[in-house]
Amino acid sequence: MRAAGGGLTVGVADLLRRPGQWREESLEALVDGLRVTGSEVPEGAPVHLDLRLESVNEGVVVKGTTAAPWVGECRRCLRPVEATLTAPILEVFEISPTEGETRSLLGTSIDLEPVAREAVLLELPLAPLCRDDCAGLCPQCGTDRNSTDCACPTDDVDPRWAGLNDLRFE
Ligand SMILES: [Zn+2]
Ligand SMILES: [Zn+2]
Repeated sequence: MRAAGGGLTVGVADLLRRPGQWREESLEALVDGLRVTGSEVPEGAPVHLDLRLESVNEGVVVKGTTAAPWVGECRRCLRPVEATLTAPILEVFEISPTEGETRSLLGTSIDLEPVAREAVLLELPLAPLCRDDCAGLCPQCGTDRNSTDCACPTDDVDPRWAGLNDLRFE
């Protein structure tokens, strides 16, 4: 495991020399700006990569997974939520990359930071839940229905009909 802070640039000269050759890499580094609406990778928390690097004709195929811890707020009850995500990685680095499909080799190295960034950003939840059946907050009194039942009526009243009810009482 490489130390955090060393970045995610990996030398692949050995692989490029011999098509068919492969090796495994476990990497860990800090990646900035891993944040979406609803969740983020906390500052100082490293992203892990477990990859198999395989030499192909004039390129390297990178296959594996990335993992990162994330924190957020339950969209229903607003309690803090934290978990670890894992995301698949499959990328091809080539001397002559195809725009939008494969990535460019940096000489005899590959830069895995943009790969890790894209994979983690895609996997971060936009609207996390503390648990699938979170009961949420009462929309009327704000009580956390996971821990306490409030006395508010539970049926949802269509605001248009609520308006008609008001009229009748006048
Ligand atoms: Zn919740
Ligand atoms: Zn209530």
